[in-house]
Amino acid sequence: MVDVVIVGGGPAGALAGITLARSGVRAVLLDKKRFPRDKPCGGGIRHSVFRRFPDLADHLKRSVELHTVSRVLMESPSGARVLAEDDGPLYLMLRRIELDAALLDRARAAGVEVVEEARVSAVRVGPAEAVVEAIDGRRWRARVVIGADGVNSIVARAAGLFDESAKEMLAIDTMEETEFHELDVPDHDTMYVAYGCKGWPGYGYVFPKARHVDAGVGFLVSFYKSTLDGSPYELHTRFLEEAAADGVVKGRSNRANFKAYRLPLGGPLARTHADRVLLCGDAASFVNAYTGEGIYYAMVTGEHAALAAVEALARGDCSAAGLAGYETRWRAEIGHELADSVRIQRRLFTNPGMADRVIRAASLDRRLCRLLARVALGEADLRDHRWEMAWRFAFAGVRARIRTRRWRARS
Ligand SMILES: Cc1cc2nc3c(=O)[nH]c(=O)nc-3n(C[C@H](O)[C@H](O)[C@H](O)COP(=O)(O)OP(=O)(O)OC[C@H]3O[C@@H](n4cnc5c(N)ncnc54)[C@H](O)[C@@H]3O)c2cc1C
Repeated sequence: MVDVVIVGGGPAGALAGITLARSGVRAVLLDKKRFPRDKPCGGGIRHSVFRRFPDLADHLKRSVELHTVSRVLMESPSGARVLAEDDGPLYLMLRRIELDAALLDRARAAGVEVVEEARVSAVRVGPAEAVVEAIDGRRWRARVVIGADGVNSIVARAAGLFDESAKEMLAIDTMEETEFHELDVPDHDTMYVAYGCKGWPGYGYVFPKARHVDAGVGFLVSFYKSTLDGSPYELHTRFLEEAAADGVVKGRSNRANFKAYRLPLGGPLARTHADRVLLCGDAASFVNAYTGEGIYYAMVTGEHAALAAVEALARGDCSAAGLAGYETRWRAEIGHELADSVRIQRRLFTNPGMADRVIRAASLDRRLCRLLARVALGEADLRDHRWEMAWRFAFAGVRARIRTRRWRARS
């Protein structure tokens, strides 16, 4: 029997492993794949990840080809644009095949036993232990199981934590990671995000990396099934063709690099722990509901899950009550941010007119634009700035109307 079995070796599982090993806890990490493995992803992560995980910064700088971006070009459904920037770099762009292998190496080096090609098919929780079973019959017994097995989490379902209503908020996200000689951007320091892409509730993005462009579109699965025509790849190429016509990208899509995958956009599950079970990363829907950012939250919640497990093991109480400190921890750090992201998403995605007004207002008020970027990056709390945002938004509306009147008077 080991103290903890972690299911999944992505950013959430790797951070859980690193944290457990550093605390002297015996952990086994199981992943169905052999690393390095790819994960469909845009590969953009907030630059402040270095500040949050200072002891990983040097390792990541050495093992992963990182590209820094300091501007975001945001586009509204009607084509209004605003260029957001802050005082320093905003995002790191990287390839998931490299990031995930580097983090897992770190977990291994810290002392975690990593078992690759172990596809977990069942998790059974009893009064004295949990048993994790792989599809080939191998079994591991543990006091605690950390579910870091992504959006289709087996652990979440086995523990009764998966909420069927979360299905309504699943998005289908497309991506392709294509080298510059086929797909490029005019400005490698700027990422592009089109909100309410084509007037539909969704988004399109183009991220420049060190040697690749990563681009894609995202829509709620429910909207995709009820309203959209065409395969995900057709929607993806249409977006890229339009981005090329607008000068946002140069070149064209390479189908061989294309993938589509699910992304949970409904905010964290109602419960993220149960008897002997903790969920982190996509397994518990820790994704920003309007930026689609999930790597950072996976790392943060992987660490908190491990710390909660360490405390519960030390007290000898791995029941749901003994693990409840987990929810307190993650809520204190990212709870507000993720709750706000759901509110913003509901307003922007369901109302293209609102996305339009927000982006037009930001283009007229640099401070508002900066605030929006800082909220998206978790650097500013929407609650602390909502009144300032509201009056700046209203004031920008007045300025826009005055401009339109002057322009009409002149013509
Ligand atoms: C198209 C797309 C673009 C995205 N772009 C961005 C972006 O630019 N920036 C960003 O921050 N986020 C982005 N995301 C979200 C991000 O990819 C996820 O939030 C992040 O990968 C979550 O990390 P994780 O460790 O929780 O899960 P994952 O990275 O999915 O890792 C889960 C691991 O569990 C393993 N596993 C699954 N099931 C089992 C099983 N039964 N047994 C054993 N192992 C199992 C898998 O092999 C995998 O290694 C994007 C997502 C998509 C789909």
